[in-house]
Amino acid sequence: MTTNADLFARACKTIPGGVNSPVRAFRSVGGTPRFIRRASGPYVWDAEGRQYIDYVGSWGPAILGHAHPDVVRAVQEAAVDGLSFGAPTEAEIVLAETLVARLPALEQVRLVSSGTEATMSAIRLARGYTGRPKLIKFEGCYHGHADSLLVKAGSGLLTFGNPTSAGVPPEFVAHTVVLDYNDLDGVRRTFAELGEEIACVIVEPMPGNMNLIKPAPGFLEGLRELCTEHGAVLIFDEVMTGFRVGPQGVQGLTGIRPDLVTLGKVIGGGMPVGAFGGRADIMAQVAPLGPVYQAGTLSGNPVAVAAGLATLALIAAPGFYERLGEQTDKLVRGLRERAELVGVPFSADAVGGMFGLYFSERVPASYAEVTRSDIEAFKVFFQACLAQGVYFAPSAYEAGFVSITHDDAVIARTLDVAEHALHTVK
Ligand code: PLP
Repeated sequence: MTTNADLFARACKTIPGGVNSPVRAFRSVGGTPRFIRRASGPYVWDAEGRQYIDYVGSWGPAILGHAHPDVVRAVQEAAVDGLSFGAPTEAEIVLAETLVARLPALEQVRLVSSGTEATMSAIRLARGYTGRPKLIKFEGCYHGHADSLLVKAGSGLLTFGNPTSAGVPPEFVAHTVVLDYNDLDGVRRTFAELGEEIACVIVEPMPGNMNLIKPAPGFLEGLRELCTEHGAVLIFDEVMTGFRVGPQGVQGLTGIRPDLVTLGKVIGGGMPVGAFGGRADIMAQVAPLGPVYQAGTLSGNPVAVAAGLATLALIAAPGFYERLGEQTDKLVRGLRERAELVGVPFSADAVGGMFGLYFSERVPASYAEVTRSDIEAFKVFFQACLAQGVYFAPSAYEAGFVSITHDDAVIARTLDVAEHALHTVK
């Protein structure tokens, strides 16, 4: 039998670190990455035939569970008609219409192939629209790997304790102002000092890349007011939260209308789709109408769009988000109860189908508080769960994801495994 270790050794010969995205390498938790052979519903199976209950969900897209038959069928049917045309299709209009109809902040939208492309394009557009150079981002928020956003970003960069990437000349980030998430006074002071130069504020409105953090009351409202007052563009990066925390993302939960929104993950149903959109007057600046260039060979790819459309149709079913939220709540409530039973300092939080687990007495409210949680305890917990067939994200700085196929039996099994794992932490 080919083992995960065999595959990892082989992968390392031709792929840097053996993986095509850093956090997959298990560097921060140790051990051998699982090479996945197939997935269905809440489960993935590795190269050794072992089954795991999966809470990574492809890092968010798998909201329907893996390989939903309707989505797979849509992909198969689209593929038969051709894989890519580099010309417009009716299906991409339907996807744009669906997104615009569902998300209050979207008047127009453009499709791309990843979340990184979406955020990179949105900040270029904000700069082009305002004619200003600077952007504000927040420590621990990850917006993909465009140069000017790789400053104190979360996700894999936090995991490696290396918040800024090599290969980004200081001049490229000279216009990136990094502030603390949830510190509205810091934003206010920055606008007072640099207001005329600030093109945009980009924010994960509920960050999931430094584990799950929620906005303090008034924080997002304050960003909205300050951007309006100073003529800056407010960008909600909802690549992770879009269609994940609720049917309208964080903009739906809070009623706040950003000027631009970035999307990815769920809208592609597991295929490469991203999007950026928002106010029509801003979107009118994008080429070919306006002077802000943006393009993509595979943008609006027909097979990817088919997966996205099938997914968006299924998650519009009545009661979908109530059920998803209930299952996620059962998981985090159960985990808290088991930790209390075992006597391990632990907290957990959830919103929609997204959750955070923290080895700390209370739910962290900032990046700094996440870093002060017991990362070693997380590692022990992660490995013990994995050994018993439960696959949480391999980093203490990542949120987790529940799908609609995580039923009561799956959650109950998870809680039993977690209780056992919590004993090993103690
Ligand atoms: N923005 C957020 C909030 C994300 O969570 C991610 C990826 O995790 C990205 C942007 C980048 O998306 P992608 O990995 O598709 O480039």
